[in-house]
Amino acid sequence: MIGQVSVQSLPTQPRPVGTRSVPFARTFVTDEAKAAVAEVLASGWLTSGPQVQQFEAHFAAYLGVRCAVAVSSCTAALEIALRGLRLPEGADVLTPSMTFCGAVNAIVHAGLHPVLVDIDAQTLVPRADQVDAAAARSRPAAMVVQHMAGYPAPVRELAAAAGLSVDDVVEDAAHALGTYLDDVPIGRVSRATCFSFYATKNLPMGEGGAVTTQDDDLAEYVRRVRLHGMSRDAWRRYAPGGGWAYSVDDAGVKANLSDVHAAIGVGHLPHLPLWQERRSVLAERYDRLLADINGLTLPPRPLAGTHAWHLYIVRITPEFGRDRNGVAAALAERGVGTSVHFTPVHRFPYFRSLLGEDACSRLDESDQAFSEVLSLPLYPGLDVDDLHYVAEQLRAIRS
Ligand SMILES: *Cc1c(COP(=O)(O)O)cnc(C)c1O
Repeated sequence: MIGQVSVQSLPTQPRPVGTRSVPFARTFVTDEAKAAVAEVLASGWLTSGPQVQQFEAHFAAYLGVRCAVAVSSCTAALEIALRGLRLPEGADVLTPSMTFCGAVNAIVHAGLHPVLVDIDAQTLVPRADQVDAAAARSRPAAMVVQHMAGYPAPVRELAAAAGLSVDDVVEDAAHALGTYLDDVPIGRVSRATCFSFYATKNLPMGEGGAVTTQDDDLAEYVRRVRLHGMSRDAWRRYAPGGGWAYSVDDAGVKANLSDVHAAIGVGHLPHLPLWQERRSVLAERYDRLLADINGLTLPPRPLAGTHAWHLYIVRITPEFGRDRNGVAAALAERGVGTSVHFTPVHRFPYFRSLLGEDACSRLDESDQAFSEVLSLPLYPGLDVDDLHYVAEQLRAIRS
């Protein structure tokens, strides 16, 4: 379906609105991906093998990066990449509080100590002064930079504000496949960049992740650690001429990607440019339809670089007449699915007890943004009429 729909053919007039159901997310699987999965199932090799190798090669070429190593999730990618920095046990790692909880768990599982940074309530990524303030209260050895919604966070500027170099930065690019910093794609900027291929992300595989890096040693480390720290994976051991022997040089984890998932990625990657174009057209359409609604703040456009439009996050401000939860409930009644990205981790009991009340304070803009943010449906297969319906309902429920 989507592969054939050109961006120009999007209808400009909405159909009359009736009772509709517009889910928050819907995963489209291309015919190429279905055929590739069928081939994998017929091949008799389901775990990591030739499809993973092919996906890694295609993904690295797509981003123009030296190395791409596939893993089972972005969460695993973050943990392994952070371990690969070989920092002292318990070293401080800066992270926004307003991020996905799994990304902060990954810092903990890597044996490191998260230091929470506030975010700018407009862009939803940290500003240099906020990084500077968090760095002044800690001794950061590394930083995780997250490109919220696909908005390009200024990696170099934030690293400098922490007194770090880009080699000390691991990017959480779960939203940032398609994000460019100036004219460089995310994936080539810092020491290691972690991608997610979870079912709702911009390149969906169901489950999956990758680490990209220009550093051969780090790539080799990720390759080893993703599969128990073993020096040779099963594909290499069982290949003709391969032997049973392997060594173990690191405390590995079990985070390899299966060939079934990799085949979906191989089948989806050629569609990604058109999907990205479509996301950007839909975001512009939202911008136009929602611009004049009082009490609604639209997502900012980056000053430089390109937004990947993984999410379209509006903020509901007091002039709207209903709060965010009220808006989400009213939209749900009208068949429109929405979501909230994210509950800042300092509001969860686990992180409060781990980090202490003081480390969970001075995060006012995160709290402010959290009370206002609402993610609207945005995916390449979103029907333009459905998008118009979402906009109309938002207008209708304002009081
Ligand atoms: C989805 C997401 C992750 C985790 O991705 P998985 O592949 O599901 O592990 C990490 N960080 C952010 C910001 C995310 O949105």
